[in-house]
Amino acid sequence: MIYKDFKGLKLSNLGFGCMRFARDPETGEVDQELVNAMFKAAIEGGVNYFDTSYAYLDGKSEGAMAEGLKPYPRESYFLADKFPGHSIPGPVDNEALFNISLQRSGTDYFDFYLLHNVTEWSVKIYESDEYHIIPDMLRMKEQGKIRHFGFSFHGGCELLEDFLTRHEGMFEFVQIQCNYLDWSLQKAKEKYDIITKHGLKVWVMEPCRGGKLARLPEAAHEKLQELRPGSSDASFAFRFLQGLPEIGMVLSGMNALDQVTDNLKTFESRLPLGEEELKVLYAIAEDMKRGVPCTGCRYCCPGCPMELDIPYLLEVYNSYKVEMNASMSMRLDGLPDEKKPASCIQCGQCSHACPQGIDVPAALAELDKLYNEGPKWSVQAKSRHEQVRRDLNMKG
Ligand code: SF4
Ligand code: SF4
Repeated sequence: MIYKDFKGLKLSNLGFGCMRFARDPETGEVDQELVNAMFKAAIEGGVNYFDTSYAYLDGKSEGAMAEGLKPYPRESYFLADKFPGHSIPGPVDNEALFNISLQRSGTDYFDFYLLHNVTEWSVKIYESDEYHIIPDMLRMKEQGKIRHFGFSFHGGCELLEDFLTRHEGMFEFVQIQCNYLDWSLQKAKEKYDIITKHGLKVWVMEPCRGGKLARLPEAAHEKLQELRPGSSDASFAFRFLQGLPEIGMVLSGMNALDQVTDNLKTFESRLPLGEEELKVLYAIAEDMKRGVPCTGCRYCCPGCPMELDIPYLLEVYNSYKVEMNASMSMRLDGLPDEKKPASCIQCGQCSHACPQGIDVPAALAELDKLYNEGPKWSVQAKSRHEQVRRDLNMKG
């Protein structure tokens, strides 16, 4: 196993993400036997980091993780959990919610604790005086219940830079979606640079983009087989990350024993991709992308009468074209109405200014449609609010 030093701790570079455990489709119960078997294999293979959240698997992840870790001494592994600021119905008793996570996770401290899913929308909650989340979590840290404090992030580069600057010195690591497709698609490269510029380590989630990069289309799979016969598609995705020195942790949401075995093999020793392999991988990523070739040059911005952040909207558009999900809708939910794609008056100024010849008005009209028709964070949030209300015995 590759280990990385983090403030004197020896962390396995492969961490176990506990958000995708197999569940009974009828009852929603986690297949605990499988979790136990996967944990045994992972721990025997050197994994010592387990990452969950209050919200994963409708609140069932923490308990299943705790059950799977029962046979092992608490000091033999590191636990990471997250505060669900993006899922609460209003200001709540933050400490009580934190304590529920501790209790479900079978522990009295978290080695790593994160603000969950900071975006343009949720940042208003996380920084609100009324919600009082950050000061409460810092108090948990002072009391030793949080050893290391960080946040997971799904927003844009500008917010990341601003958030880190506003809270310089507070956070110790940042968890981002990073893989060879999102390296350009979701600007993971720029985010990696921002985080490391602030002197922090990068934690990676979605290294295989929810399994997409572990099961490539046949033609792409064949290209990789020519490079390294017998290697899994997932191993290339992980080896891409092994070439990035500031990555302290790679979380894989494993849900089958063969995935655990394959990942352990990939993390036995460091084997970053060679130049030829990188070239092939980037070409595969380009093939997977849908949408428009916006480079983020911002030439279109000064002339926009509505002062829209066009490259930001196009980045969201491109991500939607690859995969529509509720968390993407949060990035638009976070914008004031006058900055949303519906505010585009279709004047066409931007297209004239664009060196890439992008038909921006058409893309924004389509983005508006996708946003309105796709999965909505506001809908998903309602059931999450119910969960928090139940757990805290809140009324209303
Ligand atoms: S077409 Fe839309 S995005 Fe482009 S300049 Fe006009 S208002 Fe702005
Ligand atoms: S000018 Fe074109 S490439 Fe540049 S930011 Fe605007 S849309 Fe993107």
